[in-house]
Amino acid sequence: MSEGKQKRDTMSPGDKAQPGAENAGQDLCPECNGTGRYKDEDCKNCSGSGTIWVPVGTP
Ligand SMILES: [Zn+2]
Repeated sequence: MSEGKQKRDTMSPGDKAQPGAENAGQDLCPECNGTGRYKDEDCKNCSGSGTIWVPVGTP
Protein backbone atom coordinates (compact mmCIF):
# COMPACT_ATOMS: atom_id res chain seq x y z
CA MET A 1 0.00 0.00 0.00
CA SER A 2 1.40 3.32 -0.95
CA GLU A 3 0.48 6.52 0.72
CA GLY A 4 -0.72 9.46 -1.26
CA LYS A 5 -3.86 10.32 -3.08
CA GLN A 6 -6.64 8.11 -1.92
CA LYS A 7 -9.10 6.70 -4.34
CA ARG A 8 -12.67 6.55 -3.28
CA ASP A 9 -15.93 5.70 -4.90
CA THR A 10 -18.37 7.24 -2.51
CA MET A 11 -19.20 10.89 -2.35
CA SER A 12 -17.83 13.03 0.43
CA PRO A 13 -19.64 16.04 1.88
CA GLY A 14 -17.43 18.39 -0.12
CA ASP A 15 -17.92 16.67 -3.44
CA LYS A 16 -19.79 18.55 -6.11
CA ALA A 17 -19.75 15.67 -8.56
CA GLN A 18 -19.76 11.90 -8.52
CA PRO A 19 -16.24 10.58 -7.91
CA GLY A 20 -14.79 8.98 -10.99
CA ALA A 21 -17.48 10.34 -13.25
CA GLU A 22 -16.52 11.17 -16.81
CA ASN A 23 -17.31 14.83 -16.39
CA ALA A 24 -15.79 15.14 -12.95
CA GLY A 25 -12.32 16.17 -11.91
CA GLN A 26 -10.47 16.42 -8.65
CA ASP A 27 -9.70 19.68 -6.98
CA LEU A 28 -7.92 20.53 -3.76
CA CYS A 29 -10.21 20.44 -0.79
CA PRO A 30 -10.73 24.03 0.35
CA GLU A 31 -11.27 22.99 3.94
CA CYS A 32 -7.92 21.30 4.48
CA ASN A 33 -6.03 22.69 1.48
CA GLY A 34 -5.27 19.21 0.23
CA THR A 35 -3.78 17.89 3.43
CA GLY A 36 -6.71 15.64 4.24
CA ARG A 37 -6.36 16.65 7.85
CA TYR A 38 -8.40 19.08 9.82
CA LYS A 39 -7.47 19.80 13.43
CA ASP A 40 -5.77 16.43 13.96
CA GLU A 41 -8.68 14.56 12.47
CA ASP A 42 -9.51 13.39 9.00
CA CYS A 43 -11.06 16.21 7.08
CA LYS A 44 -14.75 15.52 6.87
CA ASN A 45 -15.23 17.61 3.78
CA CYS A 46 -13.10 15.30 1.67
CA SER A 47 -13.08 12.24 3.94
CA GLY A 48 -9.36 12.64 4.45
CA SER A 49 -8.49 12.34 0.79
CA GLY A 50 -7.39 15.96 0.43
CA THR A 51 -9.34 16.36 -2.76
CA ILE A 52 -12.92 16.92 -3.71
CA TRP A 53 -14.65 16.05 -6.94
CA VAL A 54 -16.00 18.87 -9.00
CA PRO A 55 -17.77 19.02 -12.36
CA VAL A 56 -15.52 19.89 -15.27
CA GLY A 57 -16.55 21.45 -18.52
CA THR A 58 -19.63 23.56 -18.91
CA PRO A 59 -22.56 22.55 -21.06
ZN1 LIG B 1 -10.43 18.21 3.13
